[in-house]
Amino acid sequence: MTYRAPVADIKFALDHSAGLESALREGIFGDLTDDVVEAVLAEAGRFASEAIAPLNAVGDRHGSHFKDGAVVTPPGWKETYRAWTQAGWNGLASPTQWGGQGLPTAVNAACIEMWNSAAMAFGLASFLTMAGIDALSAHGSEDLKRRYLPKLISGEWTGTMQLTEPQAGSDVGALRTRAERAADGSYRISGQKIFITYGEHDLTDNIIHFVLARLPNAPAGTKGLSLFLVPKFLLKADGSPGERNDVRAQSIEHKLGIHASPTCTMILGDKGGAIGFLIGEENRGMACMFTMMNHARLAVALQGVAIAERATQQAMAYARERKQGHAVGAAESSSPIIAHPDVKRMLLTMRALTRAARAICYTTAVALDRAAHGADTAMRHAAHERAALLTPVAKAFATDIGIEVASLGIQVHGGMGYIEETGAAQHYRDARIAAIYEGTNGIQAIDLVTRKLPLSGGAPVKAYMGELRHTVEAINVVNEPAFGWTSVRLEEALDSLERATQWLLGRGQNDPDTVLAGATPYLRLFAVAAGSAMLAEEALAALRIERNGADAAARVAIARFFAENVAVAASGLERIVFEGAESVNNADAALA
Ligand SMILES: Cc1cc2nc3c(=O)[nH]c(=O)nc-3n(C[C@H](O)[C@H](O)[C@H](O)COP(=O)(O)OP(=O)(O)OC[C@H]3O[C@@H](n4cnc5c(N)ncnc54)[C@H](O)[C@@H]3O)c2cc1C
Repeated sequence: MTYRAPVADIKFALDHSAGLESALREGIFGDLTDDVVEAVLAEAGRFASEAIAPLNAVGDRHGSHFKDGAVVTPPGWKETYRAWTQAGWNGLASPTQWGGQGLPTAVNAACIEMWNSAAMAFGLASFLTMAGIDALSAHGSEDLKRRYLPKLISGEWTGTMQLTEPQAGSDVGALRTRAERAADGSYRISGQKIFITYGEHDLTDNIIHFVLARLPNAPAGTKGLSLFLVPKFLLKADGSPGERNDVRAQSIEHKLGIHASPTCTMILGDKGGAIGFLIGEENRGMACMFTMMNHARLAVALQGVAIAERATQQAMAYARERKQGHAVGAAESSSPIIAHPDVKRMLLTMRALTRAARAICYTTAVALDRAAHGADTAMRHAAHERAALLTPVAKAFATDIGIEVASLGIQVHGGMGYIEETGAAQHYRDARIAAIYEGTNGIQAIDLVTRKLPLSGGAPVKAYMGELRHTVEAINVVNEPAFGWTSVRLEEALDSLERATQWLLGRGQNDPDTVLAGATPYLRLFAVAAGSAMLAEEALAALRIERNGADAAARVAIARFFAENVAVAASGLERIVFEGAESVNNADAALA
């Protein structure tokens, strides 16, 4: 089944959920116009659907292969990557000073969704390059920027992000890779990293590794980590790749999904030390890494949306073709399965979850844009806190629903979904990793409740909840019967969110075990309440634009479905935060 980029839907979500349209009107992107944004999205959709999507099944079946230290990517991968970089897609949101196009993060986010819907393992090739560009632009010396940014931005070189070691996964502070100062101001890095995405490949003639390592006598934990740029090939005086550095892939992993993305074990310094260059200051590596991770977390969130979108498209098409049973009241003896209420329920769940997750991700992206380009310091600060609050919600919710939607996609296909040739199973296998890498979803939830809610004494989360309440009023004002119970269910969900948030900010602070046990259900509660409000906002916008038109009817129906079938879980989730979480900490006997 092919993928058709849902460009109109994407643009609608950008404009009406995430507020890109008003950001453009306010002029925060200078003279960038809506027409340009539309043209970029249309062209990205064309490239994703026509050039990348056909590679998805090939990449899954063929995989990347490791031989004698080199990695060979699947047929067509190299040529398509080259065409993709030559079209300028890698540097879409990168600084113009170094050859990027300086377009909004939100527009890039929409494109990242499309690349990953087309082929998630292909989308990954550029993922960490973009994250590395962010870190180097924000923290690198002028010399490093001059030598590395132009080729990273053009995509002629890719980047990797190297944190994980066998004993250091979620606990990054446990990493042991060593860095020693050299007389010439560079460093010698040695150690072993595991699970490094595109750590080795044949797409480009250099790979730039962003490596976390520890200096001698550095403080323990994350406070003693420094970030280094370690090129696969050291640069000659003219800036071209020269001598091979002391860093190599030892093997690649055999995985459940994303077979074409080489996941490498990397050995640094087995010939005396890989030459590395410090980014930022010594022992301040985590601050730089957070810049990288913020980009990467949103990008992983978009992978969840991407897989959900593709799985939904495929299930919709199958459900229209496959005939089984007789739907109530149908004229024909055998009905397409889309006519059966239980199949409709599955398809609507898929579409509603996908759109809600997309809205949350794009809203996060626009907040990042406002944090970078807002009119004054106060606006930039508020947007920065909004992005910080929403990033873990986007990452965990979108990747969780990516798996749920892909699983429903298999269910809609029945037995054929379990058979590899339909492709439904690949979506499910590919989706699974996104809830694990870039900080597991459990770690995202802990980040939300322990770091993001207490930001500025809880002001950002309170302000956000206040804004979501406006949607309830707006639905009531419009008085459209097709909304059904939407405003009531949304208001109930927001009440649950508010009570759970107040508890976490107040009494919960004295009860850390209960807070930690309730973090995941709280994140889900946050996401279903926010997602419900965002889908309702899209429906309201559609009504404003084309009263009684088909698109408005469809958007109202999805907003209503979400409120009445998904957001209603909020009260149960609230109860888990208050009561269920406590039972987790009283159940050790059950784990014996
Ligand atoms: C295909 C793939 C690609 C990857 N790409 C990269 C890459 O490019 N660069 C890179 O550096 N890494 C990469 N990773 C590593 C990935 O980021 C880690 O696997 C992930 O961070 C989890 O670490 P872990 O596997 O050690 O699991 P663990 O940290 O051992 O976690 C196991 C479980 O325990 C939970 N847990 C752990 N600590 C806590 C805690 N304090 N509180 C509550 N729960 C906790 C986790 O949520 C998880 O459910 C990749 C991994 C894979 C599989």
